[in-house]
Amino acid sequence: MAHLIDGKKISADIKEEVKKKAGELRKKGTEVCLAVIQVGNNPASTVYVNNKKKACEYVGIKSLSYELKEETTEEELLGLIDKLNNMPEVNGILVQLPLPEHIDEDKVIERISPKKDVDGFHPMNVGALSIGRKGFISCTPYGIIQLLKRSGIDIEGKHCVIVGRSNIVGKPMAMLLLRENGTVTVVHSRTKNIKEITSQADILVVAIGKPKYITKEYVKDGAVVIDVGINRNENGKLCGDVDFDDVLPKVSAITPVPGGVGPMTIAMLMNNCLEAVELNK
Ligand code: NDP
Repeated sequence: MAHLIDGKKISADIKEEVKKKAGELRKKGTEVCLAVIQVGNNPASTVYVNNKKKACEYVGIKSLSYELKEETTEEELLGLIDKLNNMPEVNGILVQLPLPEHIDEDKVIERISPKKDVDGFHPMNVGALSIGRKGFISCTPYGIIQLLKRSGIDIEGKHCVIVGRSNIVGKPMAMLLLRENGTVTVVHSRTKNIKEITSQADILVVAIGKPKYITKEYVKDGAVVIDVGINRNENGKLCGDVDFDDVLPKVSAITPVPGGVGPMTIAMLMNNCLEAVELNK
């Protein structure tokens, strides 16, 4: 029987740990504080931002909310980031992506102080991860490492194949698995013979954004499968990039969608806000 990796339970455990540590810091006079900026009113972004604020409230992290109009100029947004960078009581700054088209996302990410970049998207933090220095780690891949470790799955020496090479999931995932002494292969839309490669994976991480794309032909017997995808199927129900029912009989462990990787992202954001207090010292 395949082990179902329970992201709901593991993320709840992490949030409890953060809550405890945030409480201890408060007793010592430090209130952890995250500034959350949303530009415009993209409905999906509003849901994500509200979930982040709710999580902050739950774990006892103060959240400062900045809801800016769609027409906000790049200069205005950069000005707000400068202000927050200079506020010692703000530990973390998060700008919800995507931004309206007239704003350059790269410029915005680079303006956030690397010491407050709790999303781990700043080039300094990306670089730090790749050379093994301290810094913020992108929340979704960081959460996947926690899922594996807390489920007792060893990474060292395993062949880890990642499908997808985005800056927020695939690439940092590769760096993290390498850091854990995995042997890492990354495949993407231009890779030839993907099935041949994925079917050699001991640990297969899939982040492509294609509903139920990975079927049993892509998976080795006994593999661990981590499904990052969040898609809607033909009936509007949430589904992953992996055809769960098809691969289930073959795998030793798998994350469901929903309830696998999804809940880990916010839990790790909360964790990064705590790490920010340490990094800001
Ligand atoms: P991107 O669209 O940024 O990247 C997708 C990657 O998949 C690209 O590298 C692309 O290759 C590759 N790809 C696309 N099609 C194929 C294919 N047929 N075969 C092999 N590789 C392919 O997506 P993200 O990484 O941002 O997100 C991926 C999925 O994960 C989405 O469903 C997203 O919603 C979900 N997600 C979930 C999160 C969470 O759980 N909290 C957080 C972030 C994302 P190429 O580079 O060659 O174009």
